Amino acid sequence: MISKITERCISEIQDHLKDYVMEHSSKNKNRKFTCFNKNAHNNRDEDPSAAIVPGSRGRYWICFSCGAKGDILTAAQYTEGIEGFHNSMKFLSTKYNVEIETEGPKPSTKRDFQTKQ
Ligand SMILES: [Zn+2]
Repeated sequence: MISKITERCISEIQDHLKDYVMEHSSKNKNRKFTCFNKNAHNNRDEDPSAAIVPGSRGRYWICFSCGAKGDILTAAQYTEGIEGFHNSMKFLSTKYNVEIETEGPKPSTKRDFQTKQ
């Protein structure tokens, strides 16, 4: 059984999108960068057509040319050929040294009811 990765942990990974963009794309023009799905472009996206989605806290990107979009996990899937959410999380958590945090069995917050009267 695969434990569910916490939202907090996913957000922490997603926050590295800009780092990933910088590493991936040497071209930055008018805040645009080379599409992660550049193989879908005729010229490997020589004229950058991807951008960070406004209002996404820097966590999502979109390509105005081929229509590819997503977060850093999707980006890693395009550039590294990784398949699936968990494999992407594993790759990126190692890359950025983020500890994968899973939702384990929750510690009981209920107090034992004692109805002694
Ligand atoms: Zn594209």
